[in-house]
Amino acid sequence: MEIGIAKLQDLIDHSDNIVFFGGAGVSTESGIKDFRSVDGLYHMKFKYPPETMLSHSFFVSHKEEFFDFYKDKLLECTCGENPAKPNPAHLKLAELEKAGKLKAVITQNIDGLHQAAGSRTVYELHGSVLRNYCQKCHKGFPASYLYKADGIPKCDDCGGDIKPDVVLYEEGLDSDTMNGAIRAIMEADMLIIGGTSLVVYPAAGLIDYYRGDKLVLINYDATARDSVANYSLHGKIGEIFSQITV
Ligand code: NAD
Ligand code: ZN
Repeated sequence: MEIGIAKLQDLIDHSDNIVFFGGAGVSTESGIKDFRSVDGLYHMKFKYPPETMLSHSFFVSHKEEFFDFYKDKLLECTCGENPAKPNPAHLKLAELEKAGKLKAVITQNIDGLHQAAGSRTVYELHGSVLRNYCQKCHKGFPASYLYKADGIPKCDDCGGDIKPDVVLYEEGLDSDTMNGAIRAIMEADMLIIGGTSLVVYPAAGLIDYYRGDKLVLINYDATARDSVANYSLHGKIGEIFSQITV
């Protein structure tokens, strides 16, 4: 059923174990491009398709090209001149958690903006650009270290290659993170899903663990799973959340 802000507010008012599950669309209003919208990364022309360039085998076999793409398209919005900031969707979700109504944010995003907004329980299914480790000695590095490096970023202790703690295509999801997300969804009385095309598995399959009757989908375009939602709102998620009172 298509609903408006008033009904969304009413559903939130009558819930106290809300879980939010989001994707790239949550951060577009912060200036970070998603993958599948018309101006998203998948509609730009590159030498290889983005799925190839963000795959584990490409990271291993074409490391320099991987980092060229990664720095330009994924780190620029975090480390560049105008770093992205949380938008009203991130901020309102953090407020709902502080008020004790929201129990967890599950995100496919790797930009760290939920934590920047103040959210504490965040399951980052696809990792984070903010964590990076030497593949030899496991020393940690901030994103800025990779961004500033020429070519392939190397560990300043042992000279090993550094890998972002981001789940690349062909790689598995962290099982503790996945289990935490599943538990949160199973216990939720309200599940809000926003800004995701729901096509990337296994993340998109999480929706099937929800057992309640308040599944709300907030997305700009229609998604592959609109029919399973109890309620849907089509619009910009930041604009929508900015009208919600906690
Ligand atoms: P997607 O690009 O496949 O889909 C984004 C969806 O959000 C689209 O359906 C679009 O209509 C919608 N959308 C865009 N802006 C919106 C807005 N302001 N309000 C409401 N809806 C909006 O993204 P996905 O489903 O998250 O899957 C893409 C994968 O890419 C994920 O695995 C994620 O890890 C990664 N990714 C992350 C970031 C990030 O960290 N910010 C950015 C791009 C891609
Ligand atoms: Zn090292």
